Amino acid sequence: MSLTIVTGGTRGIGAAIAARLAAEGHDLVLGYRSDEESARATAESIHARGVRCVTVRADLTTDAGIEELFARAAEVGPVTGVVNNAGATYRFAPLHETPTEEIRRTIDINLTGPILVARAAVAVLDRGGVIVNITSGAATIGSPGEYVHYAAAKAGLDAATRGLGLEVADRGIRVVAIAPGLIATDLHATTGDPERVARMAPQIPLGRAGQPEEIANAVAWLMSDQAAYVTATTLRVAGGR
Ligand code: NDP
Repeated sequence: MSLTIVTGGTRGIGAAIAARLAAEGHDLVLGYRSDEESARATAESIHARGVRCVTVRADLTTDAGIEELFARAAEVGPVTGVVNNAGATYRFAPLHETPTEEIRRTIDINLTGPILVARAAVAVLDRGGVIVNITSGAATIGSPGEYVHYAAAKAGLDAATRGLGLEVADRGIRVVAIAPGLIATDLHATTGDPERVARMAPQIPLGRAGQPEEIANAVAWLMSDQAAYVTATTLRVAGGR
């Protein structure tokens, strides 16, 4: 039996990951911050696939939120995998125009939170398992003029993937990351630029934005035994960018 936690699993890339893992027979615990409607709709579609699905409203920038997520998962059963997917960009702006508070909360949700989630995951994966961190192609592009601090946070999560993967390899825990490129989700509109995906798609070597399901396919592979020899590394799924 697989029981997988997907943070931010109720919308966008996370919801596609949830659907794909459900199709592979994973029971799921899906975290989210506040969008009840998406949580309800995603849980309903996951249930229709015949697996268990619990949604947990918890802010992963808080210790209490992370504790709540893992406590609710423990009620479902032993956790076998964690997808550290929740993330946010908040606004597009050069760094010198970005308020301190926004830089801090960006790093909280994209780096500190995922590291604390990964630490909690190691504690519960006492029979081994897989941690997948969703980072970003921004980590190597640097995202000048858009969100340098977000890119830096994602680069930090790539580094944590490498270090933690080596640290826990002898416990039978694999730690891997996926760095998506431009993916068609609501993130771009909610950050303030609804046209961003259409505008940037022609710059991608493969000539289009990626779909959430294309990230989900990579997650499903990395979580499967077919990727049993893959750890402490980041897989870029970015159309060549
Ligand atoms: P979305 O904005 O569509 O979804 C984000 C999810 O994360 C939502 O479920 C949201 O909850 C949850 N979330 C946000 N903040 C918190 C918080 N403080 N506590 C708990 N949950 C939170 O994003 P995407 O699906 O586009 O992105 C998913 C991941 O992929 C992110 O890590 C992002 O950085 C990364 N990524 C995305 C790319 C893209 O082009 N879309 C490119 C590269 C990386 P709620 O629904 O309640 O708001």
